Amino acid sequence: MRPAGLSVRVPGDKSITQRALILGAMADGGSRIGGALRGADPVATGRALARLGVEIDGLGAGEEQVVRIAGRGLRSWTSPTGTLDLCNSGTGVRLLAGALAAQPLTAVLTGDESLSRRPMDRITGPLRQMGASVQYLERPGVVPFRITGGRLDGIRHEGRVASAQVKSAILFAAVGAGVGVEVLEPRRSRDHSERMLEGMGVEVMEGAAAEGWTIRVPEPPPRLSPLQMHVPGDFSSAAFLLAWAALAGCGDLLAVEAVGVNPTRTGLLPALDRMGAGVRIQGRRTTGGEAVGDLVVTGDSGALRAVAVGEDEIPGMIDEVPILAVLAARAEGTSRITGAGELRVKESDRIAALATNLRRIGVRAEELGDGLEIEGTDAPLAGVVESFHDHRIAMAFGVLGATAGCDIQIDDPGTASVSFPGFWDLLARVRTWWEAMSHGTRRPPQPAREPGVSAAGSAGCTVVAIDGSAGSGKSTTAAAVAGQLGYRHLDSGALYRAVTLGLLDRDPSIAAGAVTPADLEALDVAIEWDGRAMAVRMRGSRVPEKALRAARVNSVVSTVSALAAVREHLLELQRATAEGPGLVAEGRDMGTVVFPDAVAKIYLDAHPRERARRRLLQRGEPPDAAKIEEEAHRLKSRDERDSSRSLAPLVRAGDAVLLDTTHMDPKAQTEAVVRLVRGLEGSLFQYGDEPEPEKVRGVRPEPGAGGS
Ligand code: C5P
Repeated sequence: MRPAGLSVRVPGDKSITQRALILGAMADGGSRIGGALRGADPVATGRALARLGVEIDGLGAGEEQVVRIAGRGLRSWTSPTGTLDLCNSGTGVRLLAGALAAQPLTAVLTGDESLSRRPMDRITGPLRQMGASVQYLERPGVVPFRITGGRLDGIRHEGRVASAQVKSAILFAAVGAGVGVEVLEPRRSRDHSERMLEGMGVEVMEGAAAEGWTIRVPEPPPRLSPLQMHVPGDFSSAAFLLAWAALAGCGDLLAVEAVGVNPTRTGLLPALDRMGAGVRIQGRRTTGGEAVGDLVVTGDSGALRAVAVGEDEIPGMIDEVPILAVLAARAEGTSRITGAGELRVKESDRIAALATNLRRIGVRAEELGDGLEIEGTDAPLAGVVESFHDHRIAMAFGVLGATAGCDIQIDDPGTASVSFPGFWDLLARVRTWWEAMSHGTRRPPQPAREPGVSAAGSAGCTVVAIDGSAGSGKSTTAAAVAGQLGYRHLDSGALYRAVTLGLLDRDPSIAAGAVTPADLEALDVAIEWDGRAMAVRMRGSRVPEKALRAARVNSVVSTVSALAAVREHLLELQRATAEGPGLVAEGRDMGTVVFPDAVAKIYLDAHPRERARRRLLQRGEPPDAAKIEEEAHRLKSRDERDSSRSLAPLVRAGDAVLLDTTHMDPKAQTEAVVRLVRGLEGSLFQYGDEPEPEKVRGVRPEPGAGGS
């Protein structure tokens, strides 16, 4: 039997989120952006837009599913009071400057220490040429600067570096001002802006030119249609997890789902492939004009080979050089990265930052003018790493630190939140999972089960155990999974509810009372199968669902189910359901007590407020803020009671796969579980009707460039 795989998701793409915010603010009417990144960079951009009079909702809360932007139309932003602080966001300041160039107002743009070292001339040059006025306020070429926009002229801009930010700033200015424009770049840079503009009704023409790649907007329309889109997971964030999977050697057991795989962004993949850690893109699909897929590391991970990467490849993997350098530190041989001079003007001088930090932890690394030479080692690595206010430096070394033989501290882990809020938690989670899994594959025999237990848990019938907190989606998921697999669905909660109801009917003050086995026998609780679904019978008649889910049952069920007599009474009844083609057993102790030998164990969880919202909707009540708070409180106290009891408490089994469903709909939850179960049957992560997984070995993406 193969150990269970884990599917994770990463936050929304930073480049796309930033563009969506600014373009949404320029659109005519309301835009809705699902899956947006709520990292520090987009939050800074959103705050700046708010000061320009644009209403943006859902960016700060962290729990909203959708960001809503009330676009004011082209050239209708209002003069801001005070300075617009873009904090650490190079994309934010450059793209916003482009959009501001067409607005008839004056604004001052600034940023943090790291941003104030990044060159701005590359955008202010062409914007001035179009007619905007720019004054640097402290030092030439860097923030803070004042920009006054207005009427602009179209230009033909020939860039010396392939930069998506420069290109986007010029396109935003031209579209804002309603003038035609052409940008020529030496190599194709990431094309998210073009795709989004096209979606908003702008004609964008592009193609190969003798000198590189050309992008033309001949005649922008008088207004932009609002955006309705879903932002895919950020490939640059996913890259950290892929690298971790390659280093940890967990091969194809870890999948990163729903990641943007726009070919101008995935230049890391061929390099990984050459290192011996190929990546499979599965379930390719398109959302909002962007290619999306699920990524799984394959290949001979654990034995990485050195790699050489030159200037042709750098543009398509510019943000991934830090993680590539870290992989090189663990590869056999000397890796060479060249043509990456642009890295010196990123959030930090990434070439210097990488070389310094690699040396600090004991890796031989040499700084080149435009790159690095890194000698791989398998010796233990230890030391304190300086992040230089750079999220990708912090995360790259964090990944290395989360592998065997490394003891690495990061001075400022918080900087990861710029692009990847929740990074450290997720890394810890996959690490714990892998420790449990790899342990599981060499697991000593399970402790002997209690006497009198039927063999049903392990023999004759495949059992899928789904446990988790109240409202995390267990019932819906279990029922749907059972349907897809053709298994029976055991809703163990219904049994505890029935017992509670029966005892309440006998004595409404049951919460305080003692219960004897004879009391329980007298209830005569039994299961009746209706195909794959079960119904509960009590004292000879079927108990209506409504009665099982009544408020009076909700309020005492956890107290009743903590009683030893009750748990013992229901144990055999539950175990006896494991017959036929298979069973999906759902509850609180399925994977730990009732079916400890289940082939697949899944532990579902979700944010309490999301769980509360689902419960309210289920009951047909409006999920307003006050009701959500109240219900979340109720669910939390029930979970607390279930987790703190001494008998069969609600805990995640050591070998259960954790699935956080906060941002998943029932369909996605079901797919994830079904995939997991099918994976255990031999072919991991297969999708029902979707195309065969494609191996990227040898596929060279179109070159892209210049960061976000
Ligand atoms: O899943 P549901 O919300 O219907 O479960 C109701 C209650 O039954 C839980 O809060 C828990 O106290 C109890 N229960 C249990 N063990 C199970 C299933 C449910 O203790 N396996």
